[in-house]
Amino acid sequence: MIGDFDAPRWGSGTLSRMTMDVLTPKIVDITAEGLSLSGDLTGEELGLTDADVSIRGTLAVGLELRAIERTIYVTGVVEGTAVRQCVRCLKDFDDPLAFSLRVAYEREVKATSAVAKRDDPRKRKPAAPPEGEAEEQNDDLYYFTGDHLELAPMLREQLILASPMHPLCSEECRGLCTRCGKDLNEGPCRCGEEPTGSPFQVLRTMKEKLKDPGER
Ligand SMILES: [Zn+2]
Ligand SMILES: [Zn+2]
Repeated sequence: MIGDFDAPRWGSGTLSRMTMDVLTPKIVDITAEGLSLSGDLTGEELGLTDADVSIRGTLAVGLELRAIERTIYVTGVVEGTAVRQCVRCLKDFDDPLAFSLRVAYEREVKATSAVAKRDDPRKRKPAAPPEGEAEEQNDDLYYFTGDHLELAPMLREQLILASPMHPLCSEECRGLCTRCGKDLNEGPCRCGEEPTGSPFQVLRTMKEKLKDPGER
């Protein structure tokens, strides 16, 4: 171990150096006893774009890494606030976010080596089980090369997976009027008071069409 005294110190750069350490732990530091990592990370540091998930402020990330034989198991919790758009009223709202994750990392085997062709872990154990086989509690599988893990792409993917398909600002959200576009959470619009076509007239037209099916 090299003494702390000659570790580079870059003033304001210290924070980003720490963030880098949280997201890129060295393999040699991950033992069977485990390695705990925690930090407050921005969406940018995780490679998130607004098209993925928009994060308000930072995310509190706490991870526990444990090496068992050749596999590194990562468990942890991610907490923060996402800014999502309600699918009904189209307004942005703050959505509290908290989820736990459980993934595994294995060393990437070079596809060119003869061993890899015979025993490619990607063929043996799919990272995501196919639809309908969800009962098999496989950890999501990621790969590493070199001397450290890259946690950012994994965290980004887990954040996207944890996001709701149809975000709602509230279960009771009334959405927008399909006719005039008014946000009905702010009160009723006048569309209901001024019907544009009598429903009886519509029915009459339909009946007439049924009477003369040959007419085109
Ligand atoms: Zn809404
Ligand atoms: Zn309306």
